[in-house]
Amino acid sequence: MKNFTYHRPATVAAALPLLDAEWGKTELLAGGTDLLDRQKEYVSQPDKVVSLTGIGGAFKQIAAAGDAVTIGAGVKLADIAESKELAAFPALTGAAGEIAGPQIRNMGTLGGSLCQRNRCWYFRDEHVPCLLKGGKKCFALDGENEYHAVFTQGHPCVIVHPSTLAPPLIALGATAEVVGPKGTRTVPLEKLFQAPAKETQREHTLAPNEVLVAVKIPAKEPPRNASYEVKQRETSEWPLVQAAVAFRPFVKVARDVRVVLGHVAPTPLVSEAAAKALEGKEVTDATATAAGEAAAAGAKPLSGNGYKVALVKTVVKRAALLAAGARPYWEG
Ligand SMILES: Cc1cc2nc3c(=O)[nH]c(=O)nc-3n(C[C@H](O)[C@H](O)[C@H](O)COP(=O)(O)OP(=O)(O)OC[C@H]3O[C@@H](n4cnc5c(N)ncnc54)[C@H](O)[C@@H]3O)c2cc1C
Ligand code: SF4
Repeated sequence: MKNFTYHRPATVAAALPLLDAEWGKTELLAGGTDLLDRQKEYVSQPDKVVSLTGIGGAFKQIAAAGDAVTIGAGVKLADIAESKELAAFPALTGAAGEIAGPQIRNMGTLGGSLCQRNRCWYFRDEHVPCLLKGGKKCFALDGENEYHAVFTQGHPCVIVHPSTLAPPLIALGATAEVVGPKGTRTVPLEKLFQAPAKETQREHTLAPNEVLVAVKIPAKEPPRNASYEVKQRETSEWPLVQAAVAFRPFVKVARDVRVVLGHVAPTPLVSEAAAKALEGKEVTDATATAAGEAAAAGAKPLSGNGYKVALVKTVVKRAALLAAGARPYWEG
C-alpha cells in the first residue's frame, strides 16, 4: 500500500477543507471495507485519507421525524438491517441484511455502500489499464463479462452498479443530502448515480470535495415494498440480479408503482416499462410475470451474461409478489 497522510476530523465542516477538487489524491474513509481493499491492491493510491469515523451525531443515527426517516451516511449496514425506525421498508432492511456477511455489515456504512466502486475484475486488477483507469479500451466488452451489464446500450464501460441498497432506496423515493464547499444540496437518489466512462468520473455524481451526509425516505403512508435478489451463493457475494418494487395499494390495484433493477446496468435502473405493466392492476402471478417480461425487454447482454435476462424476469416477478404480500411459493 502506498503511504498516505491520515486525518480524522470530528465534524463534516472540518472534513470539507481537507478534500481536493480532483479525484485521486484524497479519499474519504468510512468503514474501509471497499477503500482499504483498493489501496492494498494499488487500484486506488491516495496521498491523503480523510476518515469519517470521528463524526458523530446525526451522521451515525437513524431518525424518524415528521413525514420522513433520515439515515445518516455513517450508519452501519447491520443497523439498517435491524432498525425499528425502518420497519415499514422491508425492501431496504431486507437488502441490507443480505449484504456480504456479519463482519462487512458491522463495518460497512450506508455512505460507503452507495459510493463503493464497481467490482469489475479488470478494474480491480492494478495491471489492467482499462478505460476507467485512463486506458483506451474496455476489456470486458470482448473478455470475461458474465457479471457485467445486460443493459449496455450507450455505455463504453459495462460495469454494474454494485450497491444493493440503491435500488430499494430509489424505489422508495429517497433523496440524498450532500454537503460541499457551496453548502448543502438535496438530490433525488436516482440522480446520485451515473455511468462512468473515464478515469475522472465515479459511479456517483458527488464532486470530489463533497460528502454524502444522509439519505431521507418519505415515510407518510409508506408504500408496500420488497426487494428480491439472486446470488450465486448465500453469503459474501454481490447479487447477480436484483429488483426492488414499491407501490400503493388502492382498493385492489397497485398505484404509483416503482420498479428498480440492480446489478444489470452501470447505474441502478428505473424500469418504467415494468412499472407500467403493474400500474392500475391487481398484483397477481400474471401481472407480476408481465412486469418481469417488460423489465427484460430491451436488454442487450454481452457474450457471457445472457443468463441474466431470464433472472431479470424472475426477480421482478418475485419482488412484485412479495411487495403484494404473496407467500413466496419458490421457497417450497
Ligand atoms: C465479500 C463482500 C460482499 C459484498 N456484498 C455486497 C452486496 O451484496 N451488496 C452491496 O451493496 N455491497 C456489498 N459489498 C460491499 C459493501 O457493502 C461495501 O464494501 C460497504 O458498504 C462499503 O462501506 P464502507 O463504509 O466500508 O466504505 P469505505 O470502504 O470506507 O468507502 C467506500 C467508498 O465510498 C466513499 N465514501 C464512503 N462514505 C462516503 C460518504 N459519506 N460520502 C462520500 N463518499 C463516501 C469512500 O471514499 C470510498 O471510495 C460486499 C463487500 C464484500 C467485501
Ligand atoms: S467494464 Fe469498465 S471497469 Fe471493467 S474493463 Fe470495462 S471499462 Fe474497465
